[in-house]
Amino acid sequence: MSKKNQDKPVKNSFFNCIEKNFDKAERFLSIEKGLLEQIKSCNAVYRMNFPVKIGKEIKVIEAYRVQHSHHKLPCKGGIRYSIKVNQDEIMTLSALMTYKCAIVDVPFGGAKGGIKIDPQAVSEEDIEKITRRYTSELIKKNFIGPGIDVPAPDYGTGEREMSWIFDTFLSVCPKDVDALACVTGKPVSQGGVRGRKEATGLGVFYGIRELCRMKEDMSSIGLDVGLVGKKIIIQGLGNVGYHAATFFHEAGAIIVALAEREGAIYNQKGLNVSDVILHLKKTGSILNFPGAKNIENTETALELECDILIPAALENVIHKNNANRIKAKIIGEAANGPITPEADEILEKKGIIVVPDIYLNAGGVTVSYFEWLKNLSHVRYGRMEKRFSENMNAELLQVIETVCKNKIPKEEKKIILKGPNEIDLVRSGLEDTMISGFHKILDIKKSSKIENLRTSAFVLAINKIVDSYEKLGIFP
Ligand code: GLU
Repeated sequence: MSKKNQDKPVKNSFFNCIEKNFDKAERFLSIEKGLLEQIKSCNAVYRMNFPVKIGKEIKVIEAYRVQHSHHKLPCKGGIRYSIKVNQDEIMTLSALMTYKCAIVDVPFGGAKGGIKIDPQAVSEEDIEKITRRYTSELIKKNFIGPGIDVPAPDYGTGEREMSWIFDTFLSVCPKDVDALACVTGKPVSQGGVRGRKEATGLGVFYGIRELCRMKEDMSSIGLDVGLVGKKIIIQGLGNVGYHAATFFHEAGAIIVALAEREGAIYNQKGLNVSDVILHLKKTGSILNFPGAKNIENTETALELECDILIPAALENVIHKNNANRIKAKIIGEAANGPITPEADEILEKKGIIVVPDIYLNAGGVTVSYFEWLKNLSHVRYGRMEKRFSENMNAELLQVIETVCKNKIPKEEKKIILKGPNEIDLVRSGLEDTMISGFHKILDIKKSSKIENLRTSAFVLAINKIVDSYEKLGIFP
């Protein structure tokens, strides 16, 4: 077959945008062109249409699962439910997963799934039918399984959908002792891991906190070191945005604006995130929050005065038409692909530090990896070592008290005695992953004299992937 017509990305498509970012990394690498092409392209695209009876009518549902890279297996990535789902979007998001996993040393190839529905407009019962049918389609084509391809939550999906996927998989593969590992982001009662729900938001927090600890970088944009008092705007109050906002708020940052689909709210003195959520639950909207100013056009919120802007919703929200008006000094890409390549160049010229998605929102897949390992090992984190650590700590304290001939106060003793449980271990694994990932990117930026963190992150990811291709020995 001629090479020419094979899924060539359309100019300025979302996939093409990511390719442009990838290509910028090329000049800092000496890797054969063919191998770079292989890394860039999607290994398998499964587009399906299946019928589901909704009410009295039969509806044809359009859905996708794209496996971007098989350089490591299983493939891994979320499933999104949105009326905007299309092949280009899912292909792009699956590619981002490959780079993301490589950066944070999570041994998976990238994948992504999507179903073209508006989950707000479909009843719970129908969402269940659609989810189960989608899973059956994946099983039929061998596109799901603990060692093949492991979905997870994404925009418009959560624990509920992951339970249905697991249950459908188990009903077809009841003898698979590792069936729990066929999907991550499950509720804890269904084999999920503690800390998965807030993982992406917490990862965003750890990543930005690490950047804010860097004296040199902070002084280059005229900011003090640390998060306390930094003014933050968060766009999107879904699972990622909400948790990120909460962690920033708890760390002493000031959330000056929150933006949702219906508009944004602004208060220079800061918004209390949990009160905003209560208000949202009560009224169905973040607007008219007591003490805050309403901003009708949600896009305007991105352009307000702040130190850190966190787009945590969908792609392409910062583009060539609004990039010039952005006033933030740091942009943290909690969403996937929120900045177009044209906007990226404008932001760079303005001296804004962009912390890229392929690093910053990797917390979700990192903790998914922990969940997958937990499912394969069939044991909860901390089960083996908690009591052992507590006994060791008790003995140590005893020795200290004897040697010092002094009693340690009860409250302090309690803190020191405590052995790690699952949430402690998951969070410490996530924190370590995000901190070391950041420094690897920063080291590459410095050693290769790269102008921005995104290109540095791509260089890191590509080198890691090339390394595994070489280890596979398929390019002798
Ligand atoms: N959907 C999330 C992401 O875009 C998580 C993927 C996963 O946990 O596999 O990173």
